[in-house]
Amino acid sequence: MSEGKILKSLTPGEREMELINTYSRRALAPEEVYCFSLVLCDNELDRDFEQFATDQLEAIAALFVGKTGVFDHDPSAKNQCARIFRCAVSTDPTIKTTLGEDYSCVVAEAYIPKTEGNLELIEQIDSGIKKEVSLSCAVRQKLCSICGYELDSCECVHKKGQIYGGSLCYGVLSGIYDAYEWSFVAVPAQRGAGVIKSKNKEGEILDSVYKRLQGAGEVTLTHNDKAELVSYIERLKSLSRDGEEYRRSLIDELVRLNVLSKSSLPPKVLRSVSERMTISELKAFSAAYKQPPQPQLSSSSTTEGSRGCDEYSI
Ligand SMILES: [Zn+2]
Repeated sequence: MSEGKILKSLTPGEREMELINTYSRRALAPEEVYCFSLVLCDNELDRDFEQFATDQLEAIAALFVGKTGVFDHDPSAKNQCARIFRCAVSTDPTIKTTLGEDYSCVVAEAYIPKTEGNLELIEQIDSGIKKEVSLSCAVRQKLCSICGYELDSCECVHKKGQIYGGSLCYGVLSGIYDAYEWSFVAVPAQRGAGVIKSKNKEGEILDSVYKRLQGAGEVTLTHNDKAELVSYIERLKSLSRDGEEYRRSLIDELVRLNVLSKSSLPPKVLRSVSERMTISELKAFSAAYKQPPQPQLSSSSTTEGSRGCDEYSI
């Protein structure tokens, strides 16, 4: 995903109407459409320390022609109101990117049919309320700017946003092979969010790894992910050993109490049954054995017995 912005509204000419009408069911008149231009993306470094390789911008321009825009990446039909009818790469050699390259961007031209339902959006674009756009596309590779290998792969030991020997490490997005959608973003995301994201709090990495593992398809783990996962498994193994030891002691205690109580239940049977008990069941059984002999049975049987004997003797 990348951010761009709406540039300005346009008055469609003959050529524009020709292109627009290749997408509409009936021929639209210039007054029936609202046209505007927007920057879909550029070769500037984004806040996630990623950059579209400059030679990929042409591919992006080609892929986004004909694509409809949605609100906040909600691709329901009622949201699909704007369509890109032309897209081209524009380069300005007088502007340099952070990385020192000539600034290049993908400029798209889009139209919205002037229907009642679209008037509010048109107004928002016109007034500049809606000016941020973002796009999502399929990227085959995210290469490390330092070593050239795939970032987060076994070969690359670098981390985006870090400096190595005076050079910034960033991801070069290349092999763009599909365009999913572009979207009007209601609330522009905060600048600098990528910097915060690179400092993972404890547990965040694990949560993210766990979520990815639960999802469908293959999962690629970074060095950080792997280290976090291994240390988590080590912690679990240690806890499991402690738990097993505690469980064993509960079973031993239960069997000991059973023997002491002179129960007719063979210890071997009890041990086998207790293997399948939970910790709380084991505790409950032990507690039951520990209870003093039931007074009402023994004492009442004595009185009953003596009275009975008396009665009997009479
Ligand atoms: Zn690297």
